[in-house]
Order: sequence, then C-alpha cells, then structure tokens
Amino acid sequence: MSSRRKFIRGSLLSSFAIAMSGLKSCTNANAEEAVTKGKTTPSTKSIPTVISTWNNRVANEKAWSIIENGGRAIDAVEQGVKLVEADPEDQSVGYGGRPDRDGNVTLDACIMDEAGNAGAVCFLQNIKHPISVARKVMEDTPHVILAGEGALKFALSEGFKEEDLLTELSRNEWEEWRKTSDYKPKINIENHDTIGMLAIDQAGNISGACTTSGLAYKMQGRVGDSPIIGAGLYIDNEVGGATATGMGEAVLKSVGSFLVVELMRQGKSPDEACKEAVMRIIKKQDYKDLQVGYLAVNKAGETGSYSIHPGFTYVVNKASKTQTKDALSYL
Ligand code: ASP
Repeated sequence: MSSRRKFIRGSLLSSFAIAMSGLKSCTNANAEEAVTKGKTTPSTKSIPTVISTWNNRVANEKAWSIIENGGRAIDAVEQGVKLVEADPEDQSVGYGGRPDRDGNVTLDACIMDEAGNAGAVCFLQNIKHPISVARKVMEDTPHVILAGEGALKFALSEGFKEEDLLTELSRNEWEEWRKTSDYKPKINIENHDTIGMLAIDQAGNISGACTTSGLAYKMQGRVGDSPIIGAGLYIDNEVGGATATGMGEAVLKSVGSFLVVELMRQGKSPDEACKEAVMRIIKKQDYKDLQVGYLAVNKAGETGSYSIHPGFTYVVNKASKTQTKDALSYL
C-alpha cells in the first residue's frame, strides 16, 4: 500500500474514532419500511442496496446482479453506470451527451470506495467511459483528479480508445440551440440524467460513482459538481453515501454530498439529510429556475432523497426488486 493511502486510511480511521459517538443512530438505524411509517426498528445489519439518480433501471439491475453474486460495491457501481455512459439515447452522460456551447462533449466523473479511496476525471474528451478512467486514477496514480489533456493522455496510456462522442441527435440539437444561444438550462431536461449510483454489497461495504456530460451548452472548460468528491458524490463506509444531480454550481457551493453524509452521521435519516442539504441552497439563492436533487443511503441500507422541484426520480434495488420512486421535493 502506498504511503499516501496509509496516510489517508490512518486519518480516516482517527476521524471515525472521534465520530463513533455520533454513529449510534446510524448503525442502529431503522429498516426502510419503518422509516416510511415513521417508526424505529433497531437493526445492525447493512442491507444490500443499489440506488441511482433518475430512471436508469437497467444500470441499477446490472449493479444489483453483481451485488447478488457476491461482488464488490465498487465493481457494481462502475459496471452499472457504464451502461448509461455507453447509451447514445442518454444525452447527459458519456456517448451522446449534449456538448458545450462550442460543440465539444466534455465529461466529468468520479468514484469512491469503502476505504475512502477516490478518483476523478474532469473535462475529459473522446473517451466513452470516464468512470473507468476515474477508477484507474484512484487505483493507479497518487492523485485524485486528472483534468482535460492530462486525463486524456492518462486514459490513452491505460489503453482506452479515443472516439467521437457527439451523436447526430446531440449535434442537431446543438445547432438548433446556436440560433439563439440562450443559456438557460431547462429544469429536469437539460440538466437531467447525470447518473449518481450508490451501492452496499453483501459484506456491508459502500461505494459510489457519478458520471455526466454536465450542463448542456456550458462554457468551454466548465466543470460541475459531478467529479468533485464531496460535491457530486461522497462515501463514508461507517455512515453512508450521497450523490447529487442538477445544477452543479449550487451543489459545489454547498459541498452537498459531504453535507448529506455528515448530517446522517449526526443521526438524520437519509430523507432528512437530503432535505437539509436542499434547504441550505434554498436559503441562499433564487431557486425558481434551479433544480438540485440529492440521493442518499445510510449504513443500514435505508435510502432517501430530496429535490427542489418535483420531477426528480430515482431507482432502488433491494432483494432483487427494482423500484422507481419519486423524490420528495420542496416545491
Ligand atoms: N450536476 C451536473 C452538472 O452540473 C448536471 C446534471 O446533474 O445533470 O454538471
């Protein structure tokens, strides 16, 4: 193990020790059904779970099949979100993603495992699976984030192939957009479908992944929340995990996913923690044209979500059952 990893693990362990007193309510957290009924049922077991933003049932099912077969959560989230990255119909992630205002598809992704290891790429072009490059950054480099040209160079050195990710559909829409060049992301449409996925495996370990092509028609070079550890994704194996979708600038400014996990550490349920993180945004800025949605899972496998506007959906897998749910929302 590299000394950097030893250092990270060492410091995580000491913060876990300090935090242990606040963890009781999470390790003894309620079973999911009891939460929806507002009751508490003590449980010390982590229930294998996969949860992801929006309605990517196929991605969830892929991840679930890995968990069901005894695989690791980190493999489940990577393989799950890769299906969405490869899907040209999904215009907010990977291949087929909407470009920036200059017509470039630029990708952001990050991944985090149960040991607190993390990797990310941002402003990456021409590589279909940024999440796998992020995992390589985590496992094969002493760094957490690689950006732009450097990220591309690294991906190529790891054997990834360069390909054009702009599909005809996304090119046509962009050409249409250029007639007005009005930058006003449409809620739940153009800032929609980033996939953030959280999973708990049979060993009770939690991992997460988040991948996106970012906001449609953003300025060239813009990086959102999705590849930023603590903003678009955060995992603490002792507490739970959280991920975000929507207007990345609002999530970045409130370090949203880290906040959600810390609120769960203090004893809030996943729903309550997501709601509090949304309220921090609402208190500070005009939210009428702003969508942000959070998704969380705690160590027990309870899940929760909250968004500013209605329309944010997510998928949950437990015990081989795939369910699409509507997030609670402020408006
Ligand atoms: N959060 C992403 C970003 O700001 C966008 C999204 O969720 O669709 O880049």
